[in-house]
Amino acid sequence: MLFEILALLLGLVHFGVPLTYYTCMKKFTKRPWNIKIDPSYRPAVMVVIPTYNEAAIIEDRLNNMSMQDYCKELTEVVVMDSSNDDTAQIAENWAKEAKDARTKVIRQGRRDGKARALNFALKSATEEILVIADADASWPGNALTEAVRWLSDPTVGAVSCLKKPLSAGPGGMEEGYRRYYNTLRLGESKAFATPIFHGELAAFRRDLLLRVGGFPENLGADDSHTATKIALLGYRAIIPETLWCEEVVPRKSDYFSWRVRRAQHLILHFLESSRAKPKGNFAWIIAVETFLHLINPWILLMSVLLVILAAAIFHSLVAYVLVTIGLVLLSVNQYRMWLAQQSNLLFAALRNITNKEIVWKKQIK
Ligand code: GDP
Ligand code: MN
Repeated sequence: MLFEILALLLGLVHFGVPLTYYTCMKKFTKRPWNIKIDPSYRPAVMVVIPTYNEAAIIEDRLNNMSMQDYCKELTEVVVMDSSNDDTAQIAENWAKEAKDARTKVIRQGRRDGKARALNFALKSATEEILVIADADASWPGNALTEAVRWLSDPTVGAVSCLKKPLSAGPGGMEEGYRRYYNTLRLGESKAFATPIFHGELAAFRRDLLLRVGGFPENLGADDSHTATKIALLGYRAIIPETLWCEEVVPRKSDYFSWRVRRAQHLILHFLESSRAKPKGNFAWIIAVETFLHLINPWILLMSVLLVILAAAIFHSLVAYVLVTIGLVLLSVNQYRMWLAQQSNLLFAALRNITNKEIVWKKQIK
């Protein structure tokens, strides 16, 4: 009976902590922002599009960027390219044809990771705000205006977006995951700051980027970790409900390797962040998120192993009942999505031992 009781307790912790956190964050989403917007704030902005072999989509991305309603004279777009396909050439042709002098292409010559590319751009930037804009994202026309609007409050150091997947992913998994995830991001932002940012649109004050030493080159999650460091300085790093980006989801054969790679980066990010000493609400946000990414998946694994052992060795009725409940629950989409994410985190932790994917294989979208 000891195995079953232990398994139940572990299961209770595994599901109880995230459920309680989610309920708490959902309440926070209804709180006020306590942010003062100054509608006259019009800083100069550098938008960096880091590219590695994006020839198929770079034109669409630049067209999408040219639809921004933020003042054109104040916006510089830099394609920071390290491709070995035609991405740079296509972007240069686009800039020439569009007679858009404020879009420039920098060829890095060799590929050494996204964070290095961003740091390269940061070195040459003079603008007050620097925005990361991944090539495979699509922005609504007011995205820049909206990001800048939130940055008009001097207590806000960084702003990112909520994400809308352009396809639902295998078995609707990506959609289910995003809905849960977006609620957490918004709740954390209102509580103080969210430790998870999105490279699809991530806007930072340049002076703060310099203070935190630029983008980390050894973690993969350059967007999230930079936002967290800025929050640790005492500035808010937020994802507001008014800022949405669309993201292309890789096709099925690449979907899981994509999710595992992203999980690897988040694990590295929280491993590093858990060493910091955050204050106030941010202290427990970091504590819970670190627990959820680093420890909670292993608790589930232990619980499942104990139940299987109890069923196999002791033929325990309670264990059989628990296995049956676990299997029946597989018919619930949210539960399947959750289990998939836990197994991604487990694989990711193991993969990090041999390959941290700092320069990663491009997934087919
Ligand atoms: P994901 O969103 O986590 O799947 O990552 P992506 O593969 O979409 O990469 C995010 C952005 O960084 C895309 O615009 C890529 O083209 C770009 N990128 C990825 N690796 C590199 C790199 O080594 N150098 C540069 N300059 N850009 C990169
Ligand atoms: Mn992407």
